[in-house]
Amino acid sequence: MMAQYLALKAEAGDCLLFYRMGDFFELFFDDARVAAQVLDIALTARGEHEGNKVPMCGVPVHAATAYLQRLIKAGHRVAIAEQTETPEAARKARGSKALVNRGIVRVVTAGTLTEEALLDARSANWCVAVGEAGGEVAVAAADVSTGRFEIVELSPTQVAAELARLAAAEVVAAEGSAWPATAWRPRGEFDSGAAEARLRRLWNVATLDGLGLTGRAAIAAAGGLVAYLDYAAKGALPFLRPPTVVAASGTMAIDAATRESLELTRTAGGERRGSLLDAVDRTVTGAGARLLAADLGAPLMDRAAIDARLDLVRTMEADAGLREGVRGALRALPDIGRALGRLAAGRGSPRDLGQLRDGLDGAWSLAQRLEQVAERPALLADLLPRLRGHGALIDLLKRALVPSPPIEASDGGYIAAGYDAALDALRETGAGGRRAIAALEGEMRQRTGIATLKIRHNGVLGYHIEVPAKAADPLMAADSGFTHRQTLAGVVRFNAPDLHDVAARVTQAGAHALAAEAAHLEDLTAQALAGRESIAATADALARIDVAAALAERAVEGGWTRPAFADEACFDVRDGRHPVVETALSRSGERFVANDCTLSPTSRLWLVTGPNMGGKSTFLRQNALIAVLAQAGSYVPAAAARLGLVDRLFSRVGASDNLARGRSTFMVEMVETAAILAQATHRSFVILDEVGRGTSTYDGLAIAWAVVEAIHEDNRCRCLFATHYHELTRLAERCDALSLHHVRAREWKGELVLLHEVAAGPADRSYGLAVARLAGMPPATVGRAKAVLAKLEAGRAKTGGLAAGLDDLPLFAAAAQAEEQACDAIRAEVEALDVDALTPREALDTLYRLKALA
Ligand code: ADP
Repeated sequence: MMAQYLALKAEAGDCLLFYRMGDFFELFFDDARVAAQVLDIALTARGEHEGNKVPMCGVPVHAATAYLQRLIKAGHRVAIAEQTETPEAARKARGSKALVNRGIVRVVTAGTLTEEALLDARSANWCVAVGEAGGEVAVAAADVSTGRFEIVELSPTQVAAELARLAAAEVVAAEGSAWPATAWRPRGEFDSGAAEARLRRLWNVATLDGLGLTGRAAIAAAGGLVAYLDYAAKGALPFLRPPTVVAASGTMAIDAATRESLELTRTAGGERRGSLLDAVDRTVTGAGARLLAADLGAPLMDRAAIDARLDLVRTMEADAGLREGVRGALRALPDIGRALGRLAAGRGSPRDLGQLRDGLDGAWSLAQRLEQVAERPALLADLLPRLRGHGALIDLLKRALVPSPPIEASDGGYIAAGYDAALDALRETGAGGRRAIAALEGEMRQRTGIATLKIRHNGVLGYHIEVPAKAADPLMAADSGFTHRQTLAGVVRFNAPDLHDVAARVTQAGAHALAAEAAHLEDLTAQALAGRESIAATADALARIDVAAALAERAVEGGWTRPAFADEACFDVRDGRHPVVETALSRSGERFVANDCTLSPTSRLWLVTGPNMGGKSTFLRQNALIAVLAQAGSYVPAAAARLGLVDRLFSRVGASDNLARGRSTFMVEMVETAAILAQATHRSFVILDEVGRGTSTYDGLAIAWAVVEAIHEDNRCRCLFATHYHELTRLAERCDALSLHHVRAREWKGELVLLHEVAAGPADRSYGLAVARLAGMPPATVGRAKAVLAKLEAGRAKTGGLAAGLDDLPLFAAAAQAEEQACDAIRAEVEALDVDALTPREALDTLYRLKALA
């Protein structure tokens, strides 16, 4: 046995080996130590190997799924070695001491799951491979739980972003390559020549051109991925639909750091709750939730496609009755995509067939309802035919299956009466036999005079007669017609020839009926799978309708508006809101303050200043999120929105905000900022929040200054830049497409009130003093501080303060600048004045202060 085990373990490589022994999967050696720790189960020992006890632990087969789940979650892969013959067959073939043959039948990995219990119904489960050929790169992604298969052709620098988009459960790459993989496979599997042959066999086509698979890298990635899935399923390759091949340029490019910072589908802490997806998601089906996540992760670049989605949302938004009806119908539907995935992987159950029946039937009824829509948008007209068209299969399954088929096939009972006359006859025989047995029981009670005599059934004895021990004596007699089988504590068990005959009839009929049902199950599964591509298309259509109805629901709920698109690189949002912050605020009864953002080719860079907690980050992010939502085909949280398409979206947050996560923050910040400067085009949208903050004041200001200039002069993209470096406001004079904005705050009844309102112009800088006063600093001291501040500010340009050197930069007129700054300070003071509220004494103070500023 040890030799067999070690051979299988060698085959399993770095996977844990589940070695089947009877009703248990056993693990040995290091595998046992790892599993015992992860699963928190007892580590025991068994026998000896090379003089040492062999560590061992085991999990019962019937509960294996739950244990597998925990091992997979902990990042392990598990090879399952099953007994490939029965013990009897082994004995027959190789003698009484023969070892049962075992083989690895499956490798369970995070990326190749189909089991409902192991998957999140609302998330896709991507297994991804990176392939390369001749300097080109492609990422292939398969979700074997539904058969989805996507390939993206991209440049090497975009791979990380694509992997972040997919949030892959597993990443496979060729041994020796530099991609961030979780599993490494032989180089040969990623060779585009061998891959092409494998893919042609898989989809049974003479050439891959018809599938749009022409790029060598795409073929290498797809081939490498299929080889891995083949390895994991040990030859029983799961269902894979022909791939959709997309160019990276077809969607808005969003790199990993931006995804993380915008929390599109997960928060920084990895939770779905609190993400944009969570704030938007009103889908009622698992497939709809998966599609919405995919849409938000990959906003489109094609205006026609975006508008097609929006038209369908509009149809649902305009008609509350339709929307409610559609959502109600969808809510009741099973997840046919996943049911199909299990059936195709050979792990299907009668219940999965029942789900196909109910789901396809529901799709048909939904189609009838949607046909009533008078003005049908193009996308709906496109989807409708896909909802219908499985009539024959639905009829077949309706006739063949009971209303709620069980998950377990082994007990039978899932094929409906009337479907198969022979099966009905076998069942009748069985039922007749059981009636006969009941009659026999009565007759035996009479005959023996033992009222407590029972005919029972168990796995070991089959049908037998049981009587209490104290009544058993008469039956022990040789001529009683009963044969003794077993004596237990309180009861004695017997057999009898007349029971034996009926029992044999019942047992045989039962076995035949089970076999007949199993044959039907196989046949029905094959018939369903014959239409798997169009069933999958129906599943997709249902998901698309769910997403549209859900987005409409969300739009109505939040008063969202349909975005319009423009040719020029504008970004004109009126009364925009942040969906996540707004939701959070409304929970505590607070109101979100809506803000405009109006960027255009001639005013494309906004510098936003203002006090801490004033709402700068929120403002920046809400606009980035609006771009994502709009291009994903959703309404947006605003009163009106008109946007030029965004080809790349970047979001960076200055290092100090990241400190809690303990990274080498300033380096990260600079690397990420460098990526923006290298990649942003004039169609991109960039938000930069306190960039430059992670270093000393001088360095930080200098870097922030240079970054703003570069974005303004070279990238020429739309950009919102939040900063506490007030000195940057001086860039407004040299950069004509840059304008200054601030989040408003005001003192009111002795408190600093943050208005969260974005207004034109630079921020008033005296918040520090306001806070000092609020903190109870004596008025005389605050007054003195004000005078000192005024002096500092006025003198700064002349005496060489922090920003003084900036005046010597080319294009900068130092004198004019100094004067302008003094004027700015005075203007800001005057603007902040509430003249009516001033006491005479305060008015006098103000005059002194203004005098000091001049
Ligand atoms: P800053 O970046 O200026 O430090 P934040 O954007 O982080 O400020 O906002 C701080 C807090 O203010 C947010 O957590 C939110 O509770 C509140 N806030 C921000 N913007 C708004 C708004 N427009 N309306 C209402 N509250 C807001």
